[in-house]
Amino acid sequence: MVASWVLGFDEGNGSDRDLLGGKGANLAEMTRLGLPVPPGFTVTTEACRAFLASNNTFPDGLWEQVLEGMQQIERRMDREFGGRDNPLLVSVRSGAKFSMPGMMDTILNLGLNDESVEGLAASTDARFAWDCYRRLIQMYAKVVLNVDSDHFEDALDAMKRRDGVTLDYELPAGSLRDLVAEFKQIVERDAGQPFPTDPYDQLRGALTAVFSSWNNRRAIAYRNQSRIPHDLGTAVNVQSMVFGNLGADSATGVAFTRNPSTGETGIFGEFLVNAQGEDVVAGVRTPLPMAEMATLPEFTQAYAEFNEIAARLEQHYRDMQDVEFTIQNGRLFMLQTRNGKRTGQAAVNVAVDMVGEGLISEIEAVQRVEPAQLDQLLHPMIDPAYSPDVLAVGLPASPGAATGAIVYDADEAKRRGDDGERVILVRIETSPEDFHGMVSAQAVLTARGGMTSHAAVVARGMGKPCVVGCGALEIDYSSGTIQIDGRTLNKGDFITIDGASGRVMHGEVPTIEPNVGGSVATLLGWADQHRRLGVRANADTPNDAMNAREFGAEGIGLCRTEHMFFEGDRILAMREMILASTVRERRAALDKLLPIQQSDFAGIFRAMDGLPVTIRTLDPPLHEFLPHTEQEMNALATELGTSLDAIRNKVDALHEANPMLGHRGCRLGISYPEITEMQARAIFQAAVECSKDGITVIPEIMIPLVADVKELERQRAVVERVAQEVIGESGQQVAYSIGTMIELPRAALTADKIAEHAEFFSFGTNDLTQTTFGLSRDDAGRFLPFYVEEGILERDPFVTLDESGVGQLIEIASERGRSTRPDIKLGICGEHGGDPDSVAFCDRISLDYVSCSPFRVPIARLAAAQAALGATERDK
Ligand code: ADP
Ligand code: MG
Ligand code: MG
Repeated sequence: MVASWVLGFDEGNGSDRDLLGGKGANLAEMTRLGLPVPPGFTVTTEACRAFLASNNTFPDGLWEQVLEGMQQIERRMDREFGGRDNPLLVSVRSGAKFSMPGMMDTILNLGLNDESVEGLAASTDARFAWDCYRRLIQMYAKVVLNVDSDHFEDALDAMKRRDGVTLDYELPAGSLRDLVAEFKQIVERDAGQPFPTDPYDQLRGALTAVFSSWNNRRAIAYRNQSRIPHDLGTAVNVQSMVFGNLGADSATGVAFTRNPSTGETGIFGEFLVNAQGEDVVAGVRTPLPMAEMATLPEFTQAYAEFNEIAARLEQHYRDMQDVEFTIQNGRLFMLQTRNGKRTGQAAVNVAVDMVGEGLISEIEAVQRVEPAQLDQLLHPMIDPAYSPDVLAVGLPASPGAATGAIVYDADEAKRRGDDGERVILVRIETSPEDFHGMVSAQAVLTARGGMTSHAAVVARGMGKPCVVGCGALEIDYSSGTIQIDGRTLNKGDFITIDGASGRVMHGEVPTIEPNVGGSVATLLGWADQHRRLGVRANADTPNDAMNAREFGAEGIGLCRTEHMFFEGDRILAMREMILASTVRERRAALDKLLPIQQSDFAGIFRAMDGLPVTIRTLDPPLHEFLPHTEQEMNALATELGTSLDAIRNKVDALHEANPMLGHRGCRLGISYPEITEMQARAIFQAAVECSKDGITVIPEIMIPLVADVKELERQRAVVERVAQEVIGESGQQVAYSIGTMIELPRAALTADKIAEHAEFFSFGTNDLTQTTFGLSRDDAGRFLPFYVEEGILERDPFVTLDESGVGQLIEIASERGRSTRPDIKLGICGEHGGDPDSVAFCDRISLDYVSCSPFRVPIARLAAAQAALGATERDK
């Protein structure tokens, strides 16, 4: 028995997105619901995989099944594919499991040739028929035969000039007929073969091209960005055409059941009268907002039906839908529905609103919002108190403010963006070919196109600020200039765009951090009820600590004491300490540092009243604090009353070949116990001071970079001795604990021993990743991106925890640590603490908490809840 490669829309299982792709599954589901879907069938992803695996050839039985499928459509429509009179036309549409808007190809109007075009003309109208034909040739040539579409656009423009018209649909039938002849010549010239006139050859070519488009460059780039596996393949949907370009009572459109930028309820979308398919999203003409449809008598009926269907689809899918539709002579047809892509703000608002509407449960709301999307809510906004120099206003397509230099070309945006420059990609309109440039730009700005244009949809998906349809911009690519109301901008000029208001502003404009409230607070409140994992923040200053607490941190998981030493004239005392030749000199310098540290700690303890604060003793290589410039050395020489040469010698002497693995971490405190002593004293004196004011202080002292238990034992002894001294001196009890960071493989492997002297472990996953891989993060930029692109590493291990290597060490250390001390507290404090996948891993291996930067605390809270509840599979 041959496999079943083809399923009619009325046969497919609407929940089998793996097999039918998202588009196919939803077409089957809408058909089952009795909605007006033009008939068709889906060629499965299995068929695509078989095709790709066998060197781009159709698997056995596929073509026969496609022919059967075509016969079914012919019967349903009572039309013949390639027939002379009343011909059947179909679309051939790509549709993978996860939607990849605009990344793969679709061909419309398949089945037209020199004969059937006459049949179509006779049964409808000639202008329309020839317009369909010229579109088919153009799309087919581009997708199947790789002919540059510019040639066709040029020919079309020339024809419009010849006829003295400005819009495509103003061309009369005769001109379109001439254009078809010209198009065919272009195909013959550029593809070296004629446009196929046998409709079944067209169908075969189209299927082949859509299957192959799974592996085109932009599709691969999109999958890399969205982390969609490369081996899924795409399904292909073959569907009877309906026509939105049949005159004033026909239209095509795209709409969301709610506002995808803000989440506001109510239909949000656009339509174009007398147009076909891609016209709306391509931004060729600027479409009308959906609400206006109600005012056009030709469409009142269809509009009412559309609203009903939209409501029904939301009820059915229990999520905001993004639908495509066409109205043919006043009759509505549904062509696509999917869960709509949305901004972080919309995601949160829609989820919380739907709970209120009784559509979903609180748990579902928590499962549904992608944690990384919360990041967008934390994007900077234009400071409302500042009045910027607004150059123009376009449509607010994706929120967030961004500043950068004007760049017109996607390749250049990618190159300069990847080099760390801030650029804004400015284009008349974007197409899928610009995707890589959009990824690397800070923001995207287009002169044309609506809220559902390519630029808008893609930018929202990436959470990138975007303004579209900014008609005031007259962009001239060749001279590299933009004219706006008599002003001129050049390539490289700085502009700021605000994707929330649509404003385009001159120069760099000050931004402010938004505050998290309203529905986010509601959603995170629900999340907190379901997570097991604690969430702390990495915070070094009282200000950070306050922020962290506002974002919901339940403590500080990492307070880096050294950051305090860089500010103002503290660095001088620090340098004095480092360059001291004797213990006495060093103590003198440390005495200056003590009150500074103490007041910093007191500030943090006050901010975190009642919550634990993990303080790490001095960690970085000392040379980081050394004076580097001659000026700095001079200042220090004066301060210390010594010579420049003496300072320079000292600096040279402290030079290390490989500081990351050098004299740092607890090795400093072992060499100079008086440093640890001073820090411990600052901590305990601050604790006493705060306790006396009624503050509840829970200090946890953390010794970094321990490789051997003896290092911890020694440092612990210093801390304990100081603690007893301070408690004795003040008569004030302080409850504290002492633990260590696990950031060296040897520490992980000997964790059972280390746990004898540690009440807690905090996995320093940044260093643990460096030391496990044996690579330095600061130098990894040269090769790591290539490793990820080539698939040598699936992910950047500094972004998402490497579970099989670094993760294994964490598991080993946890197990061994717990074998010695069953109640040992375990957490992580690297960048990974704010990465949703890494958070899920920490939950799986039963750590007690994750600690991340204050701004990522909401993300970690949500990710932790999803880890506990299991997240629903989302479109990527
Ligand atoms: P994409 O996934 O890029 O949106 P689609 O397969 O949805 O590609 O098709 C592209 C455009 O063509 C859409 O606007 C769609 O509505 C339109 N289209 C697809 N099939 C048909 C059809 N059978 N009749 C009319 N328009 C169609
Ligand atoms: Mg579509
Ligand atoms: Mg470290």
